[in-house]
This record gives sequence, structure tokens and C-alpha cells, in this order.
Amino acid sequence: MTPSILITGGAGYIGSHTAVALMEAGHKVVILDNLCNSDARVLDRLRRLAGNAFEFEQGDVRDAALLDRVLARHAVNSVIHFAGLKAVGESVAQPLRYFDNNVGGTFSLLQAMERADVRHMVFSSSATVYGDPEQVPIPETAPLKATNPYGRTKLVCEDMLRDLQRADPRWKIAMLRYFNPVGAHPSGLIGEAPSGAPNNLMPYIAQVAVGQRDCLNIFGDDYPTPDGTGVRDYIHVMDLARGHLAALEQLAKRQQSITVNLGTGAGISVKQLVETFARVTGRPIAHRYVARRAGDVAVCYADTTLARATLGWQAEHDIARMCEDAWRWQSMNPTGYTN
Ligand code: NAD
Ligand code: UDP
Repeated sequence: MTPSILITGGAGYIGSHTAVALMEAGHKVVILDNLCNSDARVLDRLRRLAGNAFEFEQGDVRDAALLDRVLARHAVNSVIHFAGLKAVGESVAQPLRYFDNNVGGTFSLLQAMERADVRHMVFSSSATVYGDPEQVPIPETAPLKATNPYGRTKLVCEDMLRDLQRADPRWKIAMLRYFNPVGAHPSGLIGEAPSGAPNNLMPYIAQVAVGQRDCLNIFGDDYPTPDGTGVRDYIHVMDLARGHLAALEQLAKRQQSITVNLGTGAGISVKQLVETFARVTGRPIAHRYVARRAGDVAVCYADTTLARATLGWQAEHDIARMCEDAWRWQSMNPTGYTN
């Protein structure tokens, strides 16, 4: 039986794009998702893009018996673990839910992998583990700290994975620290479909452009940055998807665990992103300046040296392309997967 790659959270934003990249590279994929933050209609879109090269299992990563069945039934040989909750504000209000889902989910998955003798994992970490960074660009060696419960769940998972690989070198783990994933598959068939008002900047801009929202609130114009607005490292989700493929290949080849930043290395301000989106799409983006959002850092962008050296990977798409693809998705699907 041909081995499969298990993608937990594969119906979600980054997972669905990574599934396409893996299938295009000839891999067999099994998606496990409880659909708590995604729509089953993404599966039809994946079929349109990649045919029937994947299986879907609906369920929760905290369900040990289900994991045992899925790992065995699909001859899984490696796992990409996206499944998790990611809303910072919600994590402040409901920390136990976040620890249960993100830490409990990762723990349950690792135990099942050990039972099944599957020891290659790519883990979705985040630049949030750097807290308010002391220096930019941020190298992987920067101090780690969490500034909210969501960030803390990522740090606890990273610590658990570090302990595991130290205890048993048969574990090969890639911890990928994503910066700000944006954009969509160039077909416009899959993309980011937040439920309710978007927390993140790019989907908010896209919803203003398509007429779903009236006006973008820009959180703060008094940061110590060239134009006063916050600076981030936006990375095209298809570049991010390729990064996962590169990480899996390295785990198999080099037989070594890896912790790397996935970003472009370029800092882009809120104002620059809004202006680029308007220029590329020809749509004005109504906006107003409001107070800073609690917990936001001024500047955050990646040192990408290690990703280039260890994965042979670097981001290819620029900010204009990110806006173009985000807009194609949003204009073809004004209300996400529900239309
Ligand atoms: P997403 O919400 O679109 O996808 C996550 C998927 O996991 C969803 O489809 C959801 O239904 C599923 N899921 C959640 N809990 C589950 C559980 N217990 N069992 C099974 N399925 C479950 O989010 P995303 O943006 O694709 O993020 C994927 C991963 O990357 C997350 O772990 C997130 O924390 C991390 N990450 C995201 C960003 C970002 O800005 N999008 C940045 C850094 C890290
Ligand atoms: N931002 C904003 N308005 C919004 C959402 C975000 O001005 O409606 C700003 C936010 O303050 C930050 C940048 O856009 O400077 C990126 O925010 P996002 O939530 O997308 O990513 P994160 O803060 O997690 O890096």
C-alpha cells in the first residue's frame, strides 16, 4: 500500500493549500479535520484542483481511537499537524479551550504516532513564540516568550516536541514558525474564509474591497515605524505550502529535526499593504485610523537565512502577487465557501 501523509486541520486555510502542493508533487494525502473552523465544501474544491488523490476523515485529533484507525488504515508515514485554534482574543477569553485543543490535541496525536511507529512530524508553529522581539529580522535563536494563551499553547507544544526529540532521536520533527500567511491558490478556488469578522488584516482588506465590510480600522498610526503603522512579514500561502514539502523532504533525507522561520524577510506596513492592494486591484480601500490593538507589536519580520540553508527554500511571491491572489479568491467567492 502506498504510504500517505496525514494532514490534520487539512480543511483549513493553510492545510488546504498545503494539501494541493503535496498532491501536485505526487503524494497521497489523508486529511483529518473536525471542521470546527472550516467548511466541508473545501473538499470539492480540492477535488477540482487535485483529483481524488486524497481521503477525508472527519474527526478530532483528541480522539485516540480514531487516530489509531486513521494511521493504520492509510499507512501513514508522516504527519503535518495544522489542527488547532488560532484566535488570540478568543484564547484570552477561553484559555482552557485553547490548552485542551492545541496542547491536548498535539499530545494525543504524538501518543498515537508513537503507538503506530510514525515519527516524522511537521508542526505549525508561529512567529508569536518570539513575543515582542528584541531585534529584527528575528533569527530562530531569539528568546522565546508568549504574550497570550494562544502563543503559550504554541510554546508548550514546541517544548513538548523538543523534549521528545531529545529523549528519542528516532523522532524527526520540523517546527515551522510562520510569519503572516496571506493570499490564496492562483485558481481562486481555495482561500482564507474566516467565520465572522476577520481578525487578520488581509482578509479584512479583501472584505472591504468586495463590499462585505464598510471600512478597515487601522490599529495605530503612532508606532516607531517609517509610516507609524505596524510592520509584518506577509508570506504567500502557496510559498508556505511549498515550505512544508521542503521540510518533509529534509526530514526524510537528512534525518534531522529542524526549527525554522517561514517568512519572506521583508517588513511591510499596514499602510503599504492597503496601498498595494488598492493599486493591484483597482479598488479603493476605505480606512480610518483608530487606537492600537492591545497586545500588538510594532515590528515583526523573519531572518530567513536558516530556511534557505536547511530547506533550500525561499519565498518567491511578492506583496503585489499576494494581494492579486487574495483578491481573485475574494471576488470569485465574496462570502467564502458558502456561495
Ligand atoms: P484554520 O483554522 O483555517 O485551520 C485549522 C483547521 O484545524 C480547521 O479546519 C479546523 O476545523 C481544524 N481543527 C481545529 N481543531 C481541531 C481538532 N481538535 N481536531 C481536528 N481538527 C481541528 O487555521 P490556519 O490559518 O490554516 O492555521 C493552521 C495552523 O497554523 C494552526 O495551528 C495555526 O495556529 C497555525 N498558524 C497560523 C497562522 C495564520 O496566521 N493563519 C500563523 C501562524 C501559525
Ligand atoms: N491590523 C489592522 N486592522 C485590522 C487587522 C490588523 O490595522 O483590522 C494590523 C495589526 O495591528 C498589525 C497588522 O495589521 O499591525 C497585522 O495584523 P494581523 O492580525 O493580520 O497579524 P498579527 O498581528 O497576528 O501579526
